[in-house]
Parts: sequence; structure tokens; C-alpha cells
Amino acid sequence: MTDTTYPRLLSPLDLGHCTLSNRVMMGSMHTGLEEARHGFERMAQFYGERARGGVALIVTGGFGVNATGALAMGARKMTTEEEAEAHRVITRRVHDEGGKIALQLIHAGRYAYNPKSAAPSAIQAPINPFKPHAMTAEEVEQTIDDFAQAAELARYAGYDGVEIMGSEGYLINQWLAPRTNQRDDQWGGSFEGRMRFPTAIVQRVRDRVGNEFIVIYRESMLDLVTDGSTGQEIVQLAQAIEAAGASLINTGIGWHEARIPTIATMVPRAAFAFATGRVKAAVGIPVIASNRINMPDVAERLLADGVADMVSMARPMLADSHFVQKVRDNHVEEINTCIACNQACLDHTFSGRMTSCLVNPRACHETELNYAEMGRPQHIAIVGGGPAGLAYATVAAERGHRVTLFEASDELGGQFKLARRVPGKEEYHETIRYFSHRLQRLKVTVRLNTEATLQSLTSGGFDRVILATGVTARVPQIPGIEHPSVITYVDALTDRKPVGARVALIGGGGIGVDTAHYLSHRAGEPSPGLDTDAFFAEWGVSTDLSIRGGLASKKVQTHSGQRTIHLLQRSSGKVGSKLGKTTAWAHRETLSLRGVKIWTGVRYESIDDQGLHIQVNDDHQTLPVDTIVICAGQESLRSLAEPLKAAGLAVDLVGGADVASELDAKRAIDQATRLAAQV
Ligand code: NAP
Ligand code: SF4
Repeated sequence: MTDTTYPRLLSPLDLGHCTLSNRVMMGSMHTGLEEARHGFERMAQFYGERARGGVALIVTGGFGVNATGALAMGARKMTTEEEAEAHRVITRRVHDEGGKIALQLIHAGRYAYNPKSAAPSAIQAPINPFKPHAMTAEEVEQTIDDFAQAAELARYAGYDGVEIMGSEGYLINQWLAPRTNQRDDQWGGSFEGRMRFPTAIVQRVRDRVGNEFIVIYRESMLDLVTDGSTGQEIVQLAQAIEAAGASLINTGIGWHEARIPTIATMVPRAAFAFATGRVKAAVGIPVIASNRINMPDVAERLLADGVADMVSMARPMLADSHFVQKVRDNHVEEINTCIACNQACLDHTFSGRMTSCLVNPRACHETELNYAEMGRPQHIAIVGGGPAGLAYATVAAERGHRVTLFEASDELGGQFKLARRVPGKEEYHETIRYFSHRLQRLKVTVRLNTEATLQSLTSGGFDRVILATGVTARVPQIPGIEHPSVITYVDALTDRKPVGARVALIGGGGIGVDTAHYLSHRAGEPSPGLDTDAFFAEWGVSTDLSIRGGLASKKVQTHSGQRTIHLLQRSSGKVGSKLGKTTAWAHRETLSLRGVKIWTGVRYESIDDQGLHIQVNDDHQTLPVDTIVICAGQESLRSLAEPLKAAGLAVDLVGGADVASELDAKRAIDQATRLAAQV
């Protein structure tokens, strides 16, 4: 242990009746396995692999303490011995792997997707079509008891503890804030009154389960909604929670209805840890930091700075089940880093699909997607070192195939090389770093600066060729498109061609949005994705203890020398409408904060020295711009496919080379991984 770079992260944590083996907790995530067929066996495998990978303590997704409080009608709850029995397969498996696991207990309050939802007051949430009723005093008492009963059942099911969900705007959080608690009985009024409900829950849970059981309270350290709690109230609550008998206090940031990103890739790493630090300074029990902690150096720094005693990582455990083991083995460069894209995890969860991970498609598919078995070893050529090619290469090599990867440019990464240049998307570099190290370790032959040709592929002794050659920008048929002011998004994002002060972007998909954001930054301006102060200033986050909800006013960027940027699309819906549910709003808000002008329902007429001529709602207009950037989708690059097949080689197309219209790293990596798992 003494020669590790992460001594604090790897040090045990004594909780009195038990000791956690290190300072990493896998935070709670609802994955969809909870409701899936054979879900409990799949959860056992999912959590078991993470326990084997070294995480000290796992918290499950939320289980309702009663039917009204479950996330939706029919969602999982912990209310009977029979329900508890089903969990034994999970707890046994995690214990067999040397881990510990706590069940998260949740009451969703006004967030429950249920027409009979209940809350402190009858105030509807902006993100739920159902209006809750205000709980009666009897219902309040019953709910406190339901938490205690669920905790007792969790112990019966073999769990090492429970986490009481008091953040993200769920019932307990609703109870604390004047925004949602307007009661005038003993459960409301002053902060002391509003605080009575959470402290009663912790106390009753502790009384029911005894001292030899972990009780985590997840506290909202920053609500990020108007009329949320103040910093002082949050500290006061933490002290009351400690006195009520909690073993640990975990961090939650922002209600689900908040309109400030809290975990998206544009949020700087550990940006919100300051809020955890103020609670840590005021209590004696260990405190856990969370949100955008995705690499061990970030975690170690928080522990060294005394901001927290432990860190919670949820999505990073989807991305890499063996995160902690790799830290222990000093193989940090081989951690498959969560890039905070949300595309395969939260975007799936919030649209009713099974959670997985863009950079690790095995996440939540552990029982069916395995890489071990292999038929006859083959010599495989992969053409293209973007996400699809990299995913195929690593899985095929891991399974024992001999792999040669051809990349025409001087660096691996494909479209991720462009993505990482966008302010707030710097994390995408981590995926390139991860794959590059995996290729080295797996002894894949990588030929950079090498354009694979029909000749080199047919004469190279390959059994199979994987075409991961990607895409090229689609050039729309607009009169004047060959005008010198017209460039592609690749030219713009790589600074290969100059971009003037007045710009029009043709196409408002993911790439149009990203390119607009990139061009809205001046050279030398700090990226809000790397600079917490810049991020807080842009999004209006206050660190002042006395400000309700931690909200300041947002800062619209207006500075001299700023580019005028027009983002256009033909359709009439919102730009970026195909982006993920959990981040599209934040991308649009970013554009608005940066002064980008959005045009929808546009018909492109022509391009000439005066600029871009368009028609909008029967009006003919000219946008007097210096540069026009094409972001109008992609076309597949796969000219080698037919000649290779004609030469008798087995050829598979993956990623954008296969389907350009849905060019999407999630699909590309998943498709390539599954193909490589079968070859
Ligand atoms: P896209 O999402 O398909 O958008 C292409 C845009 O070009 C659309 O706005 C389309 O809208 C317009 N367009 C299409 N054909 C055109 C034509 N002939 N003339 C003029 N305009 C045309 O493609 P993309 O922006 O290149 O993104 C590719 C993929 O990467 C997508 O799956 C995207 O989700 C993903 N991506 C995701 C992110 C992210 O942050 N999650 C970021 C970047 C990319 P109209 O037809 O309305 O004009
Ligand atoms: Fe992280 Fe994206 Fe994977 Fe979710 S899908 S765990 S955000 S890398």
C-alpha cells in the first residue's frame, strides 16, 4: 500500500461495527434490471462483478418503501418478506466476491409516476404529469414506519446496510424545501419543522435495525432550484442526521427538475465537492463526495484536501467494473473512463430502456455478452481506428485473435478526436487513451499513417477484414455550395481552415450544436468543462451559504470580438432534437447562453459573396456571413467493401461505415463489440 499513488483512496474506513476495504462506493443507479426478466440473477452478476473489481461498498438502485413511493406503478419495492427473499441471490453473490452492499430506500413523493402520488404539499412537479396529494398526519407516520420496515427487510435479505434517499428532489428532499413543503402542522412551517420528517426516519430506521448495520443518508448538498434549502440549513440537517444515528452521509446534487447540469460531461470534475466539504467540516461521521468523480486522481485529491472521507462513483462503475482493482495494480491508464455522456445510461433509464454504457456495452449485459470463448484463432485486419475499430480490435484480441489495425491518420480516435476539441467534451480523450493502452497490452499491431488498400489487405494473409472506415461529411446540393466561404465541420473543428467573425452553420444535429459551441469560444477562453469558476458563472451556481437552492443568475456571454453565429435547420422542431433526453436541454441552453442565433424551418436558396440566402416563413433573407460550415450529416466511407468481397475475403462493416445516418458512438461500439465477441 505504501508505494501507491493513491494511499488515501485505498485505505480502509472503520465504521465501528465493520470496516470498508477502501474509500470507493458504487453509487446508486436504477438500471432497469430491477424490473427485467431474470432481473435479480442479472443484478447478482452485475453487482458481483463490481464487488470482485474491488469497490468497497455498493448501493443498489432505489426500491420503494411502499407502493405510493415507488418510482412508478409496478416499480420494485421492499415491503414484504417475499420481496426481500428475492434479493438473497444478490447479497450472497456480492459477499462471495468479498464486497458489501446496501439497499437504497426511496420514496419518490411528487416524482412518482403514479396518479395517487403523495407529497408534503399538493404541488405538482414540472417534470411529472401527476399532481400529488398532501400527506395526512397518519400518512406521514406510516411513511416513517415504512422506511423502518423496509430497512429491517433489507437486513433480512442479507444487505449490509441501507441508503435513505434524501436528495435529487425525491420525497425527503421535497419535505425540506419551502418550494414543496408549505405545511403548517408540526411537519412544516420552520426549518426545524420541515427537518422533523427526515430525522424521524433515520432515527426509526436505526432503532429498528440496531447498531450493526450501515445507515447512509443521502443528503442534497445543493438543490439548484428556487426556494430550495440554504447552505446553512443543509449543514444543520447533516448534524441532526448524525445525531439521529446515520453511519455515513452521502452527497446528492440538484433536483431532477433543476435546469443546471450536474453530471453531464460539460460539468467540470468534482465541481460540486465544495458543498460536501461544508458538511464534512460540521459533522463527525464520514461524508461521501459524488458527481463527476471519474478518475482516481480526482478522488485522491478530494480525500487529501479533507473535502470528504470517501467518494461515490456510479457511472464510472458501469464503464469499468474493475476500476479499484486497476488502481491497486497501478494500471490506472487502463481504466475505461466514464466520459459522462449519459447516452447509454441515464438517457436509457429515463426512456424506459435497459441501462448500459457507451464505452462498455457489457454493463448490465453481463449474463449474455461475454468475451471468453473463441473458435479458431483468426488473423483479422481492422481498417479504421475510430470507436468502432478500437472496440472490435480490443475484444477480438482479448479473445485470442491476431489483430492488425490500420489507421490512415497519425493518431487513433476517429470522431472522438473531433469531439474532445469541443469545450466541455474534453473527457472524450480518455476513451482514446484507454483504447490505446488496451491495444498495447493486448499486442495488437497498430499501423498509423497507413491507408489500407485492396492490395495490402488481400496480400496480408488476413482471414477477415473489418471495415471501420467511418464517414465523410454530406455536402448538400445548394446552388453556390462550392463557394470559398463554405467549409465542413471537420475543417472548422480541426482549425484546418479559417473561420470568420460571422458564421452560418447548415444543420442543427449533434454536430451542428457541437460546432456552434466550439466556434463560440475565443482562443484562450477557459472551457467551462475544465474550469469550475467559469462553469458556475455561466450556469448561475452560487457558493454562498445563505442563498436558497445555491442559485445565482446565469451569465450570458457578451464580449467584444465575439463571433456572430447562426445555427440553421430545415425542420421546424428544436435543434439537437435527436440528442439524449438528459442532455439536449443543456446543450440548447449553452447555445442560448453563448448568444448563438437559432433558425428552424429554413429553406436554403443559394450561397454567394453576399452570404447565405435563405427562405423562412415565406420571407427571403440574406445572412451576411464570412463562413458557412456544413454540418448536414454524414455518408459512409466503404469503397473497399465490394472489391474485398470479390477477392474472396470475409468482410464486416461496423460503425459509420455500416450505417452513416445514425452515426453514433454508442451504436458503433456496441455493434463492434458484439460482432467481435462472436468471431
Ligand atoms: P444528424 O443528427 O443526423 O444531423 C444532421 C443535420 O443536418 C440535421 O439537422 C438535418 O436537419 C440536417 N441535414 C440533413 N441533410 C441535409 C441536407 N441535405 N441539407 C441540409 N441539411 C441537412 O447528424 P450529425 O449532427 O452529423 O450527428 C451525427 C450523430 O452523432 C448523431 O447520431 C448525433 O446524435 C451524434 N452526436 C451526438 C452528440 C452528443 O452530444 N450526444 C454530439 C455530436 C454528434 P434538417 O433536415 O432539419 O435540416
Ligand atoms: Fe459514463 Fe456515458 Fe457510460 Fe453513462 S454511458 S456510464 S455517462 S460513459
